[in-house]
Amino acid sequence: MPTIFDKIIQKEIPANIHYEDDLCLAFDDINPQAPVHILLIPKKTIPNHKTIELSDQNLIGHLMLKAKEIALNKKLEGWRLVINCGKAGGQTVDHLHIHILGGRQMQWPPG
Ligand code: 5GP
Repeated sequence: MPTIFDKIIQKEIPANIHYEDDLCLAFDDINPQAPVHILLIPKKTIPNHKTIELSDQNLIGHLMLKAKEIALNKKLEGWRLVINCGKAGGQTVDHLHIHILGGRQMQWPPG
């Protein structure tokens, strides 16, 4: 079942894109929770963290390294990466995504 993120990958709906390569796409969250709030997604359809497979190992490593690059390019002093998984985890879009949050002091615990 295609999600809104598939439409962003296909450029069927607009997004403010920060980074793109063959494997992933990074764009601004439409409802930012911090001065910098970027979503980094694999182009491969992986519904969530629970459905990652061993064969995705390189892709997941790629995403983690790109998240670092994006945060550094944004000149963030520190940042937070968030992956919500499942309804109880607060996930609302069923396409794996990493939230890259920064530009303000993060608090703990998160809500
Ligand atoms: P989740 O709650 O699943 O962890 O995160 C989904 C995120 O996608 C939310 O932060 C939400 O604001 C963002 N989002 C939902 N629809 C759109 C959209 O059409 N465009 C963009 N750029 N972000 C979206």
